[in-house]
Amino acid sequence: MRILHTVEEVIQWRTQGLRNIRSKGTIGFVPTMGCLHPGHASLISQSVRENTYTVVSIFVNPSQFAPTEDLDSYPRTLPDDIKLLESLNVDVLFAPTMHVMYPQGIPLDVEKQRGPFVSVLGLSEKLEGKTRPNFFRGVATVVTKLFNIVMADVAYFGQKDIQQFIVLQCMVEELFVNTKLQMMPIVRNSKGLALSSRNKYLCPDSLKISENLYRGLQAAESAIKNLAPGARLSRSEIIDTVTEIWATYIDSHDFKVDYVSLADFKTFNELSGVEKTSKQQPLVISCAVYVTDREKPDTVVRLIDNIVI
Ligand code: AMP
Repeated sequence: MRILHTVEEVIQWRTQGLRNIRSKGTIGFVPTMGCLHPGHASLISQSVRENTYTVVSIFVNPSQFAPTEDLDSYPRTLPDDIKLLESLNVDVLFAPTMHVMYPQGIPLDVEKQRGPFVSVLGLSEKLEGKTRPNFFRGVATVVTKLFNIVMADVAYFGQKDIQQFIVLQCMVEELFVNTKLQMMPIVRNSKGLALSSRNKYLCPDSLKISENLYRGLQAAESAIKNLAPGARLSRSEIIDTVTEIWATYIDSHDFKVDYVSLADFKTFNELSGVEKTSKQQPLVISCAVYVTDREKPDTVVRLIDNIVI
């Protein structure tokens, strides 16, 4: 595996000699922030299966972190990540420095930022965007930069960050970007907890408690799937089904709910309810919950999860 740090190195790899590597096959691309786990590995393996070459990037992107968030403490495990990537037969790891990606620097205070940024208006303000107002601007900006460098045929993203996928899909379509996006299912542990680099912050007890996040979503999923033809569940009935499963953890202050959403899959518009009809549109039940660590009560981790029905 080649480990490249600069844009010039990636361009040189892509245009090896005078032949463009894309004329010899396809390039699959998996952007990550590192601290790789089996969720990342599933995206990477899919890319390796489907493409001639696979590029993975590892870059903890400052512009998607608010000044109050965990940029400095975000887990960084590069030596282990490199071993995993080699075992998965990745061709190129692109691990740029901050200066490569943001030549004018990147202060976390948006007012002080300089240079080009990409916003996907409309979708970015909803759900995650309410709590993290500049998050999708940061994501869309870094992904645009990475896409322009790597020039992949296909890029792989996880359903774990479903709103991110929808935002990027809109960006790719309407900025006429020449890279297709593919969404891969959420990889969970045996008890249903969605794998996340941020799970590392939590002690074993709190991780166990966090497994109930998915149980809540599953309860709502079965309520919808078991609806009789023509029957309807209101939005509040569906959301209450989720929070009832979480009730003991909300009462014990292990969970603080940021949001539970019932939304249309494509537009992320909130729905007033669900009716069982033959042509029901795909919908997403998604949530964000603050989990307070039982061993270190100062550590509060925001976990997200979702189910598409
Ligand atoms: P991150 O390193 O957190 O930026 O994630 C990089 C990519 O991996 C994103 O497309 C995520 O949606 C995806 N990803 C993260 N966790 C999971 C998971 N548990 N299952 C599937 N994909 C995931």
